[in-house]
Amino acid sequence: MSVLTTVKEILRASTQSANRGSVTDETSKGAYWCDDCGERIRDIEVEGEEAPECPSCGDEMRFERSATSTGCAC
Ligand SMILES: [Zn+2]
Repeated sequence: MSVLTTVKEILRASTQSANRGSVTDETSKGAYWCDDCGERIRDIEVEGEEAPECPSCGDEMRFERSATSTGCAC
């Protein structure tokens, strides 16, 4: 096993644990936003994994991960 592989494994593990800690309901990882309209659609309300279109302007919405209550761990 190379050092690079080991680092990737660590990063993946830490990312997964962070996700698990921030999940508070269902499997929501965040929400889709339209910056122009302020529209918001939770990811669990969207079927599939593609970004939905904004119901107001039709632009593709931007996915934003839900912030953890604890904020940055730095
Ligand atoms: Zn919009």
